[in-house]
Amino acid sequence: MTVTLDWLGCATFRLTVDDLVIFLDAYIDRVPSAPPVGITAAEVDRADYILIGHSHFDHIAGAEVIAANTGAKVIGSNESARVLLEQDIPADQLFRAQGGEHYRLSDDVTVRVYPSLHSCIWSTASSTPEEVVLGDYGLTEDQRWGSLNVWRQSSPDDPPETQAMLEHLNCSTGSREIGGALAFVIETPQGSIFYHDTSGCWTRVISDLRPDVALVAMAGRANIDGEPIQGSLTQFVGRMASMLRPKQMILGHHDNWMPPMTLDMSSEEALGPVREEIARVEPRVSLVNVGYLEGTRLLE
Ligand SMILES: [Zn+2]
Repeated sequence: MTVTLDWLGCATFRLTVDDLVIFLDAYIDRVPSAPPVGITAAEVDRADYILIGHSHFDHIAGAEVIAANTGAKVIGSNESARVLLEQDIPADQLFRAQGGEHYRLSDDVTVRVYPSLHSCIWSTASSTPEEVVLGDYGLTEDQRWGSLNVWRQSSPDDPPETQAMLEHLNCSTGSREIGGALAFVIETPQGSIFYHDTSGCWTRVISDLRPDVALVAMAGRANIDGEPIQGSLTQFVGRMASMLRPKQMILGHHDNWMPPMTLDMSSEEALGPVREEIARVEPRVSLVNVGYLEGTRLLE
């Protein structure tokens, strides 16, 4: 059995298990100022399944193109299904999940779905992965969101790159609702792969999963059991390593996926503190830094 992983930027991956092609998220077509990942959604000619972690554009956009062109079946939340129905994807291609489902993907491969959490986009985030941020704890939804509007329209006063970014996020396929963040464990005869696409988790849901490989999102202010982490993004990755205890960990959502809002946190230099934190809390976990479309072999 050959298992290959391609990172396609942001939290999107293509996982190939022999002949089975599974997309994890589908966001490939980004703002022009983001570094190209080497392929577009329209160029994808093979996909059997698309697993969608949540319904925001930077995860689901492109699923409508890939599902229409390849006939791939989509597993995601009710909100993700609603978004794709609106994009004319047939209902029989859409499989709804909220956590607790166990889908068969091929004779040898299945996926288990778990409830997960979105990062705290309403909360103060660190400017670098290692910066510790405290506070915003114990707030109710009205206090959390207040007048924050991440979906604002662009204005002529915005710099051109900001205008392009706002137009992109307002025009891309997706929902303003999270739609219920999901985590997945893909099970193969050679081992299992954990995937989530935003920096959050229910600790008691994931602590006993023990995947062989974990794809962990590193972006924004992490969400631990419904509260913003009192610490750093690097410490969140360390927590994930110590709970999941995979042999290998691969990060996602940490590239410069939407300038000027985002920074590149994927260089080997930027990952130095993350490596140190993982070595400190769970030294048996190997952090594998992959580039776009590198075809990394897993579970060997
Ligand atoms: Zn999101």
